[in-house]
Order: sequence, then structure tokens, then C-alpha cells
Amino acid sequence: MLRIVILLIFCLFVCSPISAQALADGSRSKPKPPSSLYDGYREDRVHAYIPVSDIPDRYPIHVSGFVMPLADVLVTSVYGMRCKKMHRGIDLALEVGDTIASAFEGYVRKTGYDYGGYGRFMVVRHLNGLETVYGHLQTCLLDEGTEVKSGQSIALGGNTGRSTGPHLHFEILFMGQAIDPRRIIDFAEKKVHQPTFYYTKNNRIVPNKRPDQKKEILCHRVQKGDTLLSIAKKYAVTVDELCRYNHLERNSKLRKGQIIRYS
Ligand SMILES: [Zn+2]
Repeated sequence: MLRIVILLIFCLFVCSPISAQALADGSRSKPKPPSSLYDGYREDRVHAYIPVSDIPDRYPIHVSGFVMPLADVLVTSVYGMRCKKMHRGIDLALEVGDTIASAFEGYVRKTGYDYGGYGRFMVVRHLNGLETVYGHLQTCLLDEGTEVKSGQSIALGGNTGRSTGPHLHFEILFMGQAIDPRRIIDFAEKKVHQPTFYYTKNNRIVPNKRPDQKKEILCHRVQKGDTLLSIAKKYAVTVDELCRYNHLERNSKLRKGQIIRYS
């Protein structure tokens, strides 16, 4: 009888995947991506790395657990070249103090303050292999190394660093390589385009479906001197369209910092 009990305890310990994983990771409290993608890379920078030769030729990324970082989604600037510099993320309007949620589960890889750029920021490393960056924060609610669930509150939005108004700068990285968030996320619908993507070394990302630009809501933050006409010209739309999108009259006065939808 004693032998059977000992055998059972032995089996429970050795055969349990959780035990094996915990032993492999050396810790239960800090979940890691499901492979050794980031082993050996520097942890002390936002963009940590990385010899491109180390990037897998093709890597599946499961994103079905995605939660939109903000409850209200107004895109004020998209990924791409901006004023001759690469804008590696997407900007979402917010009010200072708005709660920001983690897009996926994982753990807080880094927090810090970058005066000339991100301001207060947080980098979360996810179990699906991605990392997400949250910039211009007012407050980080979690310390480095803390586990996070998808949708868990991680920070409060702000206007820190190189920022012209309160917003969230949101980046998606894979092994240090920035991905256009719109390739993965439909910001109008607040959901992912599909549950799994493949990151490929050559194409950067990904499959299968391009973002539906028509459905997307894009916005402009009013600067000093802006008028409905100047905004309409800037984004190649009509003043009437701006009025319709924003419930304004043609002679409505704009105030600095106001968010104007233009698509
Ligand atoms: Zn930005």
C-alpha cells in the first residue's frame, strides 16, 4: 500500500506539466513566452535587441485573448512615417487618469521614464511571444516582474514625455521588431482580425487580412490655429463630412486639444 502511495505522489510530481514548467523556468511567479525567444537578450531597454538572424523564419502568434487597452478608442495617429521619422506605434486619445489595460497576458518586463520620447512607459512581455509598449503614462500601477492577465489594469494614461496632448502611444513588438498594430487589431471593432498570425522574417508580418480602412475611425487633435477647413484640407475630406462626423456646424469654434474625427 505504502509503495502505491509513494508511486502516486511521484507520478503527480513528475508528470504534471505545471511542475515541469515551473522547474524549467525556475519560478512559478513569472510566466514566460512558450519558447526561449528572449533568452539572452537585454532586458533593460524598450527595444531590447536583436540580430535579425535570430528571428524565426515563421512563428505563430496567438492573439485571441486580446483586450483593447482603452475603453474608448479614438485613433489620433497611425503607424508609419511621420515628420520624416518612423512612428512605431499607434496613438489613442484619452483623458489624463484613464485606466489602461494589458492587451494580453504576461508579465511587466520594464517600466521607466524617457524624457525625450515615451515619457513614463511600461513594456509587457506576453506569453504569445509579443511585447506591448504603453507610453506617455501618468502612472504605472504595477512593478517590473508582476504577472498580468489580459485586460488587467496596468497604468493610468497621461501626457508625459514628447507628447502634444494626453494620449496613449501603443506599440506591438516581436523580438524587438515593431509591427503595425492595425495588422493585428481592428480598432473600430475593438477586436483582432483573426485569432492567429504568423510572423515571418521576410514579411515581418503577417497574413492574411489587411485592416479595413473604411471602417476605421481616425481623429485629429486640434492645435492652435486649426479650423474645420484647414483640418478638412489636411485629411482630404470635406467640411460637411467633418461636421457630420462630429455633430458640428460649419461655423463651430474649435478649441485647442479637441478631438475631431475625420474618417
Ligand atoms: Zn505615438
